[in-house]
Amino acid sequence: MLSKTTYPAEVGRACRHKDTITLSYRSVSEKTTQVLNAGSHLCGSCADLVKELFEASGPSAAIEMPPIVAKSEKQAGYASRMRARTAARLAPILEATRDDPRPTAFAVHQACKLMLSVRRADFWLNNKDAPITASWLQGQVAALYLGRLPSKDPRRENSPILELMESPYKAIAEDAVAAVRLAIAQEKDSPPPPPPAPKDEFDFGF
Ligand SMILES: [Zn+2]
Repeated sequence: MLSKTTYPAEVGRACRHKDTITLSYRSVSEKTTQVLNAGSHLCGSCADLVKELFEASGPSAAIEMPPIVAKSEKQAGYASRMRARTAARLAPILEATRDDPRPTAFAVHQACKLMLSVRRADFWLNNKDAPITASWLQGQVAALYLGRLPSKDPRRENSPILELMESPYKAIAEDAVAAVRLAIAQEKDSPPPPPPAPKDEFDFGF
């Protein structure tokens, strides 16, 4: 039996940040799978940021949503109620990320907006019991960075990005993917923030 090779390795994440993970494999194909899998997820600090933003609470503004496309009025009504339920959950997150310049916060905002742009009634009916969780949101943010999700990824379920990509409204998803890519490119180009000004030891705040 082949012994396992285990060592820490630096990998590139979906958000283009680098992360160190522990690779542990018996074959080259196992190693490749682990590296690819790491590359389809967010780095540790982006994942934490998404989780933190997911917990946002507080006041939220009304959200404008496009009309539902359905086979009947009854179906449209039902799908609208399902969507309103999701909108209520996402509203505080949208509000918390509205003016946040961090690329991953921007991507969170885009992912929530995309979810509520899905017009097809079937999507809302098929996903009416799908939970909106922090890990679901992390998956959608990773998909926005990548412009896709790997074909066997369980996060494909209930994914507004994939739903829109395969619909007549795919330009909405493509625009969001392009905007997120631009945000991270600008982050890479911007100079590091200046060091904090030294504190005046004798300032007692009088
Ligand atoms: Zn990251």
